[in-house]
Amino acid sequence: MARYTDSVCRLCRNEGTKLFLKGSRCYSTKCGIERRRYGPGQHGQTRKKQSEFAVQLREKQKVRLTYGMLERQFALYMHDANKQKKVPTGLKLLQLCETRLDSIIYRSGLVPSRAQARQLIQHGHFLVNGKKTAIPSFSLKANQVVGVKEGSKQLIKDLISNNPASVPPNWLKVDLENLTATIVNLPAREDIDATIKEPLIVEYYSR
Ligand code: SF4
Repeated sequence: MARYTDSVCRLCRNEGTKLFLKGSRCYSTKCGIERRRYGPGQHGQTRKKQSEFAVQLREKQKVRLTYGMLERQFALYMHDANKQKKVPTGLKLLQLCETRLDSIIYRSGLVPSRAQARQLIQHGHFLVNGKKTAIPSFSLKANQVVGVKEGSKQLIKDLISNNPASVPPNWLKVDLENLTATIVNLPAREDIDATIKEPLIVEYYSR
């Protein structure tokens, strides 16, 4: 599978905002965007006027990179969000992103970043409803329970103690004693990052 191998801090600097891709470093003074508040590369400090298309594209890229997805996968989520009619397309897209297994593990505070969650899932450290699940994009539904394999509990406890962003959202019930996270209900719009402008992403894909 294709993988991004360059510096992830460049991605934040390119989007001009923190995407929180590096765990505890993102909350420290070593954060790339705190140290250099301009875009990467030779023309990073040049001011650019953005077209309407560029604004939509950047919003899409920002969200896609935040959740650590490739273009094709993100486009498939958009396709699925478009097919249903129960909730607004943009909100459904964000719900699909939030309820991925890697995102749930990150949001519950069990690991410091989505990238680390993905790696640990692939190494078989996590369970869904008691069954080992090694697919980071596994989509969870209400009342499903994420747990940690017995032999991996100490590893996860060590990660929690070094996690500066371990306050879970109210749509997740987290038991840090038993290392479980239960989805109480799907996140509402106010439970998701308010800075995301999902209508721009919907407009991008409806061109
Ligand atoms: Fe982005 Fe984190 Fe790097 Fe800061 S440290 S630039 S938030 S990935």
